Amino acid sequence: MPVSLTSAHIALSRMCNSRCLYCGIWKERLPGPTCGRLAGVLDQLADNGVKSVSFTGGEPLLRQDLEAILEHATKLGMQTSLATNGILLTDDRLASILDSGLTTLVVSLDSVDPGIYERLRGRPLAPVIESVLRARQRISSPRGLAVSAVMTSLSLPELPRLAAWCSTNSVPLSLQPLHGVWGAEEDGSELASLRLDPHDAERVRNTISVVKASGACPNNAEYLEALSEFSIGREVVTRTTCTTGRTSIVVYWDLGISPCWNLPRLDWGEGIPLKTMLQQDAYRTLAAQAEALDCPRCWLACYHDM
Ligand code: SF4
Ligand code: SF4
Repeated sequence: MPVSLTSAHIALSRMCNSRCLYCGIWKERLPGPTCGRLAGVLDQLADNGVKSVSFTGGEPLLRQDLEAILEHATKLGMQTSLATNGILLTDDRLASILDSGLTTLVVSLDSVDPGIYERLRGRPLAPVIESVLRARQRISSPRGLAVSAVMTSLSLPELPRLAAWCSTNSVPLSLQPLHGVWGAEEDGSELASLRLDPHDAERVRNTISVVKASGACPNNAEYLEALSEFSIGREVVTRTTCTTGRTSIVVYWDLGISPCWNLPRLDWGEGIPLKTMLQQDAYRTLAAQAEALDCPRCWLACYHDM
C-alpha cells in the first residue's frame, strides 16, 4: 500500500519545564530545529499531502518562535494542534498562539488533586488549572480545546474527579494510555509502579465507564475499549488494522522521521526531498510494518476521534 500522508506530528524540541515521573525528556535539554528549517519541513509536508499537523515536544511553549511556526503552518492551509503542559500559558501567550492560527489546544492534566498532580509531574497544579480555565474563556470552538489525561496507577482513582471538573467547566477530557518511557528508567524507578496491569482490568473498565458517563469524554466506545486493553496488557489484540503507516508521519526534534512514534526512525539529511525519503525502501518497510501491525500494537497513537 503506498504512503499517502494526511497528518504529521512534530516534536519541536526535547526540552521540558515539567518533571513527569513517566518521562525522561526533561532530563535531556536538547533543542529542536531552527524556525527556518521547520518552515522548510512544513513546506515539504504540505507538498506531500499533509493537511493537519500536531506540535509536541518536550514543551512547545518553551520555544519563543512557536508563533512563527504556527503562522507558517496556517499559511500552508494546515490545521494545527499543540500539546502543552500548560505551565507557560499566560494570557499573552494564549492570545498570541491563537492569533497565529492554532486550531486545537491540548493541555496535559492527569488530576485536579494538587498533591497527586505534583507527585506525577513535579510541578504545582494551580497554574495549569488557571491555564485551562483561561483557554476555555478564550476558545469558543468546542473542538478547539481539550484536556488530555494519562492513565496510570496514580491517576486512575483521580479520573472521575477530573472528569467531573472537566464536565463542570465544559472542557473535553481525552484519555491516553501510558505509552513509551521516553528515556525514563524502567528498572528501579517509579515508572514500573505507574503501569497498570491485568489485575487492574476491572478498575480500569469501571473508571472509564464513570468518565464516559460524566459527559466530558468525547472518545468513542471503540477507542475506549482499545485504551482499556492497551492499558492493562500493553498491546491491543482485538484490532487488526492501523492506518498510521500510510497516512501519518512523525518528525523528531533532530529531524529523524518515522511512520509512528513506536517504530524505528530514519535520518532525514538536509537537502533530501521528503518525497525521496518516503519512496525509499527503508521508509516503505517501516510503513508496511505498521500496516501489518508488526509493531507495539498500541493502535492508539494514530487514532484521532476528537
Ligand atoms: S510527559 Fe510531556 S510534560 Fe511531562 S516531562 Fe515529558 S514532555 Fe514534559
Ligand atoms: S498500532 Fe500503534 S504502534 Fe502500531 S503502527 Fe499503529 S500507532 Fe504505531
